[in-house]
Amino acid sequence: MKYLGNKVGNGLALGKVYIINTKIPKIEKKTLITDDEITKEKESLKVILNEVVKDYEKLEKEASEDEIRQLCNFYKILLNSNSLITSMEEVIDKEKCDRNEAITKVMKRKADELSLVDNAYLKMRSKDIEDVTNKLLRKSLGINEIDLSKLKEDTILVAEEIPPSILLSSNLGYVKGIVSELGGKTSHVAILASTLGIPSVFGIKEISKTLTDGELIYVNGNEGYIENNLTNTKINEIKDKIKKEELLKASLEEMKDKPSLTKDNKPLLITANAGELSELDKLLEVNSDGIGLFRTEFLFLNRSVAPDEEYLFNIYKTFAEKFKEKPLIIRTLDIGGDKKCPYLDIKEEQNPFLGYRAIRYCLDNKEFFKVSLRAMLRASHYGNVMIMYPMISSLEEIYKASEILDEAKRELASKNIPFNKNIKVGIMVEVPSTAIISDMLIDEVDFFSIGTNDLIQYTVAVDRLNPTVSNLYSFYNPGVIRLIKKTIDSCLDKKEKFVGMCGEMAADPLAIILLVGLGLQEFSVNASMVLKVKKLISLIDSKEAKEIANKVLTLKTAKEIETYLEVCAKKIYGKYY
Ligand code: PEP
Ligand code: MG
Repeated sequence: MKYLGNKVGNGLALGKVYIINTKIPKIEKKTLITDDEITKEKESLKVILNEVVKDYEKLEKEASEDEIRQLCNFYKILLNSNSLITSMEEVIDKEKCDRNEAITKVMKRKADELSLVDNAYLKMRSKDIEDVTNKLLRKSLGINEIDLSKLKEDTILVAEEIPPSILLSSNLGYVKGIVSELGGKTSHVAILASTLGIPSVFGIKEISKTLTDGELIYVNGNEGYIENNLTNTKINEIKDKIKKEELLKASLEEMKDKPSLTKDNKPLLITANAGELSELDKLLEVNSDGIGLFRTEFLFLNRSVAPDEEYLFNIYKTFAEKFKEKPLIIRTLDIGGDKKCPYLDIKEEQNPFLGYRAIRYCLDNKEFFKVSLRAMLRASHYGNVMIMYPMISSLEEIYKASEILDEAKRELASKNIPFNKNIKVGIMVEVPSTAIISDMLIDEVDFFSIGTNDLIQYTVAVDRLNPTVSNLYSFYNPGVIRLIKKTIDSCLDKKEKFVGMCGEMAADPLAIILLVGLGLQEFSVNASMVLKVKKLISLIDSKEAKEIANKVLTLKTAKEIETYLEVCAKKIYGKYY
């Protein structure tokens, strides 16, 4: 059975499930009566704090990765701080409660303080404090720590939420994958998992209750799913895939400084999908040809009020300066659907993916929209910024958005604030009506970026988040392929315009052959996939790919197309596939 989640990346893994349950049992409250009891409680609190600090010191010494050492150091500093100890003692003195109550209260206060900070990365650090609190309570209650330091076989850690401390103290050589019900992209575990290169999938509901300890599962961190009940044939297939993935990884480093070219030297752009400032280093490291999709909604989530122009401008400017002349395509807010933003006036809807989403909300809330547009325009003075509208479904929406953009430009010009007056503006093609009239729309914009994640769900009428119908959600659906072809064709003979793709299909090895053949000019993929896509493209001859694409267009079912592309991929990619 296949379970879909959110991809954290880092490759593929096969291993036995180890379910981690870090829940602390309900603690009975205790009231202290005598002064002597209070003094003893405070002394025992110090002992516990000391012991946990020592545990972290040990972990820090043994760790080989910087990230782990930094994290242990952060925990140590936190627990050694005088103000923390004094606050806990004050709680015991004032409330005549025991150390568990004091630990819980003071640590919660700390976590709350961090969660209010206006920064998604720091906000996630409040989760770390929960983890330290649980460690303190386990020590205080005499509960044995979960000990993964002696793992001896390939293991997939599965939990409601994996505490970083558990990951840190495990025998990392055998931690092959991580699966969790909760946890965001910027959670420390996700960052740790990426640093350590552990394939991970987060956000699979109830998975720690669905799987059983010891069962063999497959984790596909690149595509964001796991599978259990594996047959022997499937296991062999997976092992083969993992071996090839390793071979490919080893050959990627050298791709960093090479230009993005097909085998017959046709230049293409391989750009990256971005979402947060904290990803910038990773994005720069892979040396992509720019950013093909900056998902700005991440800057709006996890907050109590919308970010202001200055805040957005500074982030966009930082990216623009780093990417210099390379394109930085910033998408205007794509909120709604599965991305909820409580402070915006979007009511609960029965079909949020078909509802008040993205450009629809922005066009109705002009002043709010202009804040983002001005921030993007201002950043355009510092690099090659382009603006992209999501969820466009008609020409009228492009006209309306352009009017608002012109207004934002006039506002900046009246204040002599510099911006690129010829800034390029494009749209995402992710609604079938847009793909169908793409030949008309291309005259109004500078570029298209095909958003297959949504285009597929709207074309095939399959909710992209619903695992029950996920078998229908296919890159190879002939209807989807025709819409993609139509969109590419509408742009191809237009000088100075380009057509790219920023949905997950752009990183699919089989689809890449077809897309090169159809003439796609830009592939925007997750940072962890940039070098792999560059490598695969370097193995494709564009003329041969064109013939393959022509053949694909004659095939009638997704299965036939996939099988045919499999055969082509084996031949073209050889040992890399
Ligand atoms: C898409 O729909 O393909 C896309 C890239 O946008 P998102 O996944 O953010 O909806
Ligand atoms: Mg989309």
